[in-house]
Amino acid sequence: MVQIGRKLYIARTVIRKRCINMIKQCAQCSKTFQIDSSDQDFYKRMQVPVPKLCPNCRQQRRLAWRNERSLYPGTCQHCRKPLISLYSPNKPYTIYCQDCWLSDQWDPFDYARDYNPKQSFFEQVRELQLVVPRMAITIRNCENRIAWILSCRINVNYATK
Ligand SMILES: [Zn+2]
Ligand SMILES: [Zn+2]
Repeated sequence: MVQIGRKLYIARTVIRKRCINMIKQCAQCSKTFQIDSSDQDFYKRMQVPVPKLCPNCRQQRRLAWRNERSLYPGTCQHCRKPLISLYSPNKPYTIYCQDCWLSDQWDPFDYARDYNPKQSFFEQVRELQLVVPRMAITIRNCENRIAWILSCRINVNYATK
C-alpha cells in the first residue's frame, strides 16, 4: 500500500511538472529545453520575454561577449597611472587599475539604486554597466606580478625555479 502511494505521488509530481514547465525549441540548434515555473515567474516579474535559445546556446552567446585574448594600453580613471586593460580605449566604461578598484578610495554604494519596475530591466543594467568602475585586469596573489597577464590568481612562476 505504501509502495502504491509512493508511485502515485511520483506520477502526480511528474504530471504537475510537465504542466508547469514550458517546453521550447531552441531557435538556434533546434533542441528542446524546459523553462521551469520559477524562471517563468522571474521573466514575468522582470517584464522580459522567455528565452528563445537553449541554455547552451545562451552560454555560447555570453562567452562570445568576453575578451580572453586581447590586452590594451590605457589609463586608470581614478589615479591616472598608465595600465594594461582587457577593455579597448574606445569602450565607454570607467576603468580602474587593480589597486584603485580594490581600495577604499571609492564607494560602490555610490552607484546603488533601487530597481524601477516601470523601466526595462536591461536598460537599467546597461546604465549600471556604463557608470560602475571596472577592474582593468585581475592579477591576485601571483609571485611575479606582471602587468600584462589577464585574469591570474595565486600562481608561482615555476619556470625560474
Ligand atoms: Zn540551442
Ligand atoms: Zn589607479
